[in-house]
Amino acid sequence: MATNTNNSTENKQLFKKSDKIAHFKQDVWSIFTPLAQQLKAANLGQGFMDFPPPDFVIEAAAKAINNRDGHQYSHPKGRPYLKNILAKSYSPLFKRTLDPDSEILPTAGANEGLYAIFSAFLNPGDEVIVIEPFFDQYIANITMNGGVPVYVPLRPQGETNKIMSSRDWKLDVNELRSKLTSKSKIIVFNTPHNPVGKVFSIEEMTEINKLAEEFNLLIISDEVYDRLYYEPDVHERIANLPGAWERTITVGSGGKTFGTTGWRVGWLIGPKNLIGATLSAQTRIVFCVNTPLQEALAISFDLAEKHNYFGNIIEEYTRRREKLMKALTDVGLPYTIPQGSYFILANTAKIKIPEDYPYPEVILQRPRDFKVCYWMAKEIGVVAIPPSEFYCEENAHLAENLIRLAFCKTDKTLDEAAKNLQKLRKYIDDE
Ligand code: PMP
Repeated sequence: MATNTNNSTENKQLFKKSDKIAHFKQDVWSIFTPLAQQLKAANLGQGFMDFPPPDFVIEAAAKAINNRDGHQYSHPKGRPYLKNILAKSYSPLFKRTLDPDSEILPTAGANEGLYAIFSAFLNPGDEVIVIEPFFDQYIANITMNGGVPVYVPLRPQGETNKIMSSRDWKLDVNELRSKLTSKSKIIVFNTPHNPVGKVFSIEEMTEINKLAEEFNLLIISDEVYDRLYYEPDVHERIANLPGAWERTITVGSGGKTFGTTGWRVGWLIGPKNLIGATLSAQTRIVFCVNTPLQEALAISFDLAEKHNYFGNIIEEYTRRREKLMKALTDVGLPYTIPQGSYFILANTAKIKIPEDYPYPEVILQRPRDFKVCYWMAKEIGVVAIPPSEFYCEENAHLAENLIRLAFCKTDKTLDEAAKNLQKLRKYIDDE
């Protein structure tokens, strides 16, 4: 009989990471979120709420958990109660009667929904158009499914060293056209946009839709911030444009909508054939989405109107947005006024950070925005996210003078950040 004395050590060496993940760099969240905790800095970094969801949402979860019959697998298609309530809530917004059975699919957060779409439609080598800056998970979701991301940046128009509107960040349609080939399969589109805060206009979406039609692209419309818009006071959907419904899957997130990012429940809305294919993939990824929190989300949607929830959150986030904008104005940092979502991009070109500052290795190898964020966390007491993480390597320089600040935070955190930001004054060169 063969002996296997050394096998365990040898095997360990064989367990190399797959090519799919071996090139992943350490993600920004696992650098800056622990840093914020360690330094007890005002954390405007990762986009999670540092306040609890409203009572009616917590009570909905308690009710779902207390249902002794609601703890087993659900059907992969999702809980009927959630699908019906999503159809009721979204039919008027999509200006059509949505079929809860075939046109709506609950997912394990928007993120898994996106993964399932890529899994359902990408073959190796298929190209996916990604607009920069992007939500960083898109890229791994695409490449892990064999796709090739192709990047097109939003370009700020006018003077970026002054306060500007997210409206002024524009997609150059000719540049987009120049990136389209016979291999292009999907375009990922996000409105309201993370991190720019841009709410795309009908005219801008019409241009994108025309190209999608011409090149037969599937449109993934990431609308996880669809309830958070400030100006204009309406959220338009690309799926509602003429001819767009048949090629569009719209992505939603219970985490963003109800302040429950840890529940990991989202949903997809689209035509039967696109949702059906995505369901085939999703069934093999998670099988089904967790049962009690699908029910809790359904109850929350049911009660949202009674509590005027959607109106209230716009008011609350408008106030938080004003607070952070005032803090940045007071210290003299220019920024992009977001039309939607809960992020502000601030321009740090004027900040003179000490040249010889002792950065750890993970920061040293990265662009200037990583250094500014690290230095700010340590010396100023405010944690922000370096947005070059949301660009491909070639275009990362477009973000070197930017930082992303999240305002889904309590007044206490925002006030502390405002106070600490004042410490920047002595490093700001106004010439
Ligand atoms: N899309 C965008 C644009 C996001 O900002 C996020 C969360 N940061 C997601 C998708 C993922 O949402 P979820 O937490 O529901 O997976």
